[in-house]
Amino acid sequence: MLQEFKKHPFVAKLLEGGKMVRYGAKSLPYGGWWCIPPLAGDGWMVLGDSAGFLNSQRLKGIHLAIKSGMLAAETAFDGMVKNDFSLELLEGFQDRVDKSWIKTELWPVRNFHQGFEHGFLSGMFHAGIQQFTGGYGIRGHYANEAGHRRMQPLSRLPADGGPESHIIGPAKGDGKLTFDKLTDVYHSGTKHEEDQPAHLVIHDTDICNERCVKEFGNPCKNFCPASVYEMVEASDTPSGLQIHLNPSNCVHCKTCDIMDPYEIITWVPPEGGGGPNYEGM
Ligand code: SF4
Repeated sequence: MLQEFKKHPFVAKLLEGGKMVRYGAKSLPYGGWWCIPPLAGDGWMVLGDSAGFLNSQRLKGIHLAIKSGMLAAETAFDGMVKNDFSLELLEGFQDRVDKSWIKTELWPVRNFHQGFEHGFLSGMFHAGIQQFTGGYGIRGHYANEAGHRRMQPLSRLPADGGPESHIIGPAKGDGKLTFDKLTDVYHSGTKHEEDQPAHLVIHDTDICNERCVKEFGNPCKNFCPASVYEMVEASDTPSGLQIHLNPSNCVHCKTCDIMDPYEIITWVPPEGGGGPNYEGM
């Protein structure tokens, strides 16, 4: 989609003569207040982007991540004083969040992103009403749907693939305005120790090789911006294809963990601080 955007004559003219300096990709947790998971349990707390602390109206979240880190640290300090890291003590983190400006900021925009469910015009209508009703809009709690449930099976596609089918597939790029995925990966500066445990795991590759290939067309090979997922020829699978992983290419966007339609991919931060180098971005 970014390639398409850059090819628009107006944007292409703005970028003319430029060169790629850095490349990065990141999914944004902009489900808002309704998508925040339980913030604590026995021995753990979750904060920052992992908890969905992002203001989807302003597309900003670093200040919320820092504040949630401060509140989690206060809660952890209480735990250390009492030598108690049970849910009962750590759920004080939720109370702290509720009483802080995190909630003051996120509550009025709790329905903002969901208001755009049916496109730009209806989104502007809902955003306008929410603006004057403290975020309530026309129904108080707008529905949300997890990313993986939005993935459409091939059977729902028109026979010719639909109007956006030309976007799917390996992007070749012209090397000036648009680029292939491996050139993008190179410019992300991503690095991982090759002998560490894989930081992304597919729990059942038979699903990829036998079911997904027919039902969804292995969308991971398209939505992963770093060519981590590939379907390669294989003689011992019914489809003649099998999933192949290149985890060291990963640029940590987390799209696969969110969009995999079978929820069989688990992504965790790699050991040793590996990952993309986003200096200069
Ligand atoms: Fe993003 Fe997942 Fe691909 Fe890594 S493997 S770049 S997290 S989609």
